Amino acid sequence: MPNLPDNPIFDITRFTTTDFPDRLACVVWFSGCNMRCPYCYNPNIVREKGTLCESDLFDFLRLRQGKLEGVVLSGGECTLYPHLHDLCETIKAMGFEIKLDTNGTKPARIRALVEEGLVDYVALDFKAPQHLFKSLTGSAEYDAFHESLTYLIEADVSFEVRTTVHPDLLHVKDINAMIEELHGLGYKGTYYLQHYLHVEPTLGKTAPPSKAFALESLIHPIPVRLRNF
Ligand code: SF4
Repeated sequence: MPNLPDNPIFDITRFTTTDFPDRLACVVWFSGCNMRCPYCYNPNIVREKGTLCESDLFDFLRLRQGKLEGVVLSGGECTLYPHLHDLCETIKAMGFEIKLDTNGTKPARIRALVEEGLVDYVALDFKAPQHLFKSLTGSAEYDAFHESLTYLIEADVSFEVRTTVHPDLLHVKDINAMIEELHGLGYKGTYYLQHYLHVEPTLGKTAPPSKAFALESLIHPIPVRLRNF
């Protein structure tokens, strides 16, 4: 039996119809993150320790077999959890499909999960273009993110790229540069733009947007879909 970290899970959302496409699912929120996005509205998840251990999750899932179809592994950043691979094996053996929400900074872990068929859907956050990545994430992991992006574009797994848009932090020219990059890399899926929803407190005390995002100036060489605009 591996030596498991105490309580890696911050919380579990028991039921969602919107977080895993076409699946009834729960959401497992892992504590801890290697980014510090100023607009993050989950500062407690990022900074604090979890409250639930793997056994708590498995007890919960045992009672949902035949009721829920999927488990969303989110956070925080779930790929930081060192025993994620074994956890996914157990969840799959219980009959659930798995969606991974990730910032993409652990490409080797993502690759291993995909290649072993342990995840069914990946939602990858494209936080910012390279020149803004550090200031918008507090992280110098753009290259690792990009490795995940290029891998997932070629991989045989359902996959989406998404960006949270705060109109004061990411401008139309930035989003258009990200769209161009995805197009140039051969991304064939839909690019989801999620409007920033102001929920206090944010990690970096980010102010509410001072202006609307100029949607009419977006380019569309790939499908772009809006959420919450
Ligand atoms: S928004 Fe940023 S800081 Fe918050 S959990 Fe996601 S990656 Fe981490």
